[in-house]
Amino acid sequence: MTKYEKEIYRLITESAEHMTAEQVFSEVKKIYPSVSLATIYNNLNKLNEAGMIRKITVEGSPDRYDRAVKHDHIVCRRCGKLLDVQFRDLTDMLESQMGGNFLFYDLKVYYICPECREKEKHRIYMPSTAARRQDR
Ligand SMILES: [Zn+2]
Ligand SMILES: [Zn+2]
Repeated sequence: MTKYEKEIYRLITESAEHMTAEQVFSEVKKIYPSVSLATIYNNLNKLNEAGMIRKITVEGSPDRYDRAVKHDHIVCRRCGKLLDVQFRDLTDMLESQMGGNFLFYDLKVYYICPECREKEKHRIYMPSTAARRQDR
């Protein structure tokens, strides 16, 4: 592994943040100020192809990078925030149904996160709250 690969691998496996390439870039830059964003992308792709990290693609947000350890994700449909979750492992079932054709699966479950739900509540109730205040 190159020094960049090592550093990127460490950052991603130690973080629960699901970092974007830009975030990885700004972290690696603190240690190696001369690193370029292209180098970060190259190393992320290399690590991903080697199966040492995994890339998570969510529609409408930049790709994020994660530990390779098997786990699933719930994704907020509004803000794109991603949380780790552990569902029952489906590998056995898929292998028995698909035989040798099964490679892997990547499960994402969509929801509206508590923060976004809270925001929506306020947006809906705000006019009536304002009206009530004026009544007093
Ligand atoms: Zn959200
Ligand atoms: Zn994750």
